[in-house]
Parts: sequence; structure tokens; C-alpha cells
Amino acid sequence: MTRVPRGHTLVVGLGVSGRAIARHLSRLGRPFVVADTRPVPPGLDDFRRAFPGVAVHCGALTEVDASAAEEIVLSPGVDPLTPGIADYWRAAGEGSDAGPRVIGEIALFVRACRAPIAAITGSNAKSTVTTLLGEMAREAGRRVAVGGNLGTAALDLLVERPDAELFVLELSSFQLETTPRLGAESVAFLNLSEDHLDRHGDMPGYRAAKAAIFRGARHAVVNGEDPLTWPDDPALPVECFTTQVPQEGEWGIKRDGDDAWLMHGERTLMPTGELRLAGRHNQANALAALAMGRHLGFPLDAMRRVLARFPGLAHRGELVAEAAGVRWINDSKGTNVGATLAAIAGIGPTLAGRLIWLGGGLGKGADFTPLAAPLQRYAREAIVFGRDAPVLVETLTGSLPVTRCADLDVAMDRAAALARPGDCVLLSPACASLDQFTDYQARGEAFRAGAQAWQQRTEETP
Ligand code: ADP
Repeated sequence: MTRVPRGHTLVVGLGVSGRAIARHLSRLGRPFVVADTRPVPPGLDDFRRAFPGVAVHCGALTEVDASAAEEIVLSPGVDPLTPGIADYWRAAGEGSDAGPRVIGEIALFVRACRAPIAAITGSNAKSTVTTLLGEMAREAGRRVAVGGNLGTAALDLLVERPDAELFVLELSSFQLETTPRLGAESVAFLNLSEDHLDRHGDMPGYRAAKAAIFRGARHAVVNGEDPLTWPDDPALPVECFTTQVPQEGEWGIKRDGDDAWLMHGERTLMPTGELRLAGRHNQANALAALAMGRHLGFPLDAMRRVLARFPGLAHRGELVAEAAGVRWINDSKGTNVGATLAAIAGIGPTLAGRLIWLGGGLGKGADFTPLAAPLQRYAREAIVFGRDAPVLVETLTGSLPVTRCADLDVAMDRAAALARPGDCVLLSPACASLDQFTDYQARGEAFRAGAQAWQQRTEETP
């Protein structure tokens, strides 16, 4: 049994966030003990070298006595219901202050942060909107620090950018559920679709974790077409974005024939054709960033310049190869059904030919049924791989031809053989990658390499 000495903080998780938490506590001069449920967590030796004298417990948390701990700080990868800490977590949820409080890295960040926070959550499009808003702030001449669930850990931003006058943070449900009060100047809850149910249990649990973003917020931007993103607190000033014609005060889109404009109420902001990002889902993303940016006082001209040049992030609807009239698009970050639906709806209607859809991996307990109708409408074939491929085969068979392959390489060979001019080979797996790859980036890079090799072969063939 490892005992956390009185007055020490228990840090749980030895990954990137855990190390950021440890560095932060060291800077504050607060003593701490670290625990990780893995018998040999990766990076253990580096950690011991960086923090000599800090006790590290590896293995079950039921073997840690944290009853005397000052506080328990969880990394986002650690479920608060893990045996050993679950009782403290539940007790605090029931209003008891008997044991140590269980919080996360963002709660520590909020305590230490002296500048306003703009925070973005949702099942999808967080990174895109966070990056857009960060670029808009920079273009508006603000000293801005951007990070959180994307790039630099929030706690490290405090050191890297001590002069920041604004923090723009992407926050996941895992980070939010352990943040008692974010107190942000502006927040956005972009959308909610099934994801991480293996951790949050059900949709109400998942929504409740994300809705923690509203605690103490002064301004909120939510999705007018997705009531699950709306806050329960009627006193919070809320603005809606929508892909429909906006009502007064809303952010939306007006169409006239083939032309369309981003609008704020009756005010025309810019033609959608000026946006460098493609697809209706990205128009929604632009509107969310504009709504937050306006509240934060950024000039419209600066925000428009950013929208006109921002090419999008890698692995999100990224064109990686094109030859013989066939495009290959890497949407490896499409790791849940909602993201993949957006990608299909964004690309499908633009094609002269058909989609060839590549998907599969770890389904995280999601229901794939919503994919059947759009795939039937736009796709020539579904090529599935990875651990949950059998579930996809079962769900999609009858709607369109489905082929099961051992892995992504085999799936790409099949796609290359099927593709005809006008088609688009789309990797948007609706699943996590961890059964066959280290992460979604590695999956996307494998796709990029395969697609570019295909392009070279195709261009060399007379
Ligand atoms: P996150 O950080 O929330 O994962 P990203 O900006 O990285 O979000 O985008 C992830 C995926 O979400 C993209 O690959 C795309 O398929 C999908 N996506 C992008 N915008 C939207 C949107 N507005 N609604 C639904 N899905 C979207």
C-alpha cells in the first residue's frame, strides 16, 4: 500500500498531462505523489529523472491510500470512477467534503490563470474552431496562447506564454468533467453526437461532462440545430449558430441560387465562397468562431482575412492525392459517427462520381446505423477494417456493397481497384485507431503514404 502523506497532492496519470501537472505543482512548491494504473507506464524513467525524490506508485489505485491527500488531480485519460478514487469522486458529487477533492488539470489552470479564457468543446470540430479563433485573435493583434486538448497542455501555456492576454483552449469532456468552475469569458459547445460512451456510460452522462464548460461563463455560443448543446441555466447570455437562415441575433447562412453568405441576423458577413475551408460543416465552424470573436472584440475584417486563408488542419478532410479524376481525402480525425456523417455530407454532393468509403477500428460502443443511409446515397462501396469491422459489415449490409479487409493497406488496394474518374476515396473511419495504429495521426499518415504512392503509379502509367 502506498500512503499519500498529509498535505501532499496525489497526481494520477503519468502521460503528457500528468507531467504537465507535476511541473506545475513543482513550480508552486506543492509536494506531490504520482500514481499510474499501468505496471510500467511509458516514460517512467524520464519522469523519475525529471522529478527525483517524488514517489511514484505503479499499479492498481486500490493500493494507494489517499485519505490524507490535500487533493487528487487526475489526468484526462483517467476515469474518475477508477476503483481507488471513485469513492472520493462520488462523495464530492454528493456534496460531502469528507475526503480529498478530485479535480483535473484544467481546475489547476483556472486557479493560476490571470487572463480571460475562451473555451471550445463539442464532439467534433473543436480543433478546427479553436485554431480559427486563435488565428483570429492573432490577426486582431492580441497576445494569445492556444492549446489545451490540442497542442500545448494548458498548464504549460502559463509558463510558455506568461504575457498572454487571452487563452484559447480546446477542452474535452474528460477535461471538463473534473473542472468545478471554468469561469470563461466566452465558451462554445459546438455539437453532441455519440462518442466515448465506453467512458461516460450514456448520452446524458457525456452531455453533462461537456456542459461543465458553462459553469461561470459570461457568454456562450451554441448550436441552434442541436438542443443538446444548449445550457440549462437561463441566465447565461447565449448566441446560436445555424446552417439555416438566421433569426435576429443568430449566426447563420442565407442562400440565393448557387450563392450563399455567412450572416449575423440581417447583416451580411462574407460570401461562403470566400471561405478556404470546404463543406457546410465548416461554414458552421466559421460561424461559431465569428460569434466568439465578436464577443471578444475582434474586428470583422481581421476575422474574414483568417477565414479566407485558413486551409484546415491535417487529417480533417485533407486532400492528399489526386490523379485520373480520383481524389483521396484523409479524414482520419473522423473518429466517431457524427464526424463521419459531416464528412460524407460535405463531400458526397460535390462528386461527379461516387464515394469509396474506408472505415473501421475501435467503435467505442457507438451505433453505426446512421451511416447506412448517407453511404447508400453517396458511396459505391464501404471498405471496412479493424476490430469492429464485423459490426460495420452487419450494420451496412443491405444498404450498399461492403467488403471487409484485414487492415488499411489492403483496404486501400481494394479502393484503388474500384475507383473510377469522378470518385473520391474517403478515409473517415467513424472509429478510434488504437487497435491497429498508435493514434489517428499515424493512421492518417499511412493513408497519405498509400494514396501518394497510388498517385505516382497512376501518373507513371501511360
Ligand atoms: P475535434 O477536435 O473535436 O476532434 P476537429 O476539428 O479535429 O474536431 O475535427 C474532427 C472531425 O470532425 C473532422 O475530421 C470532421 O470529419 C468532423 N467535423 C468537422 N466539423 C464538423 C462539424 N461542424 N460537425 C460535425 N463534424 C465535424
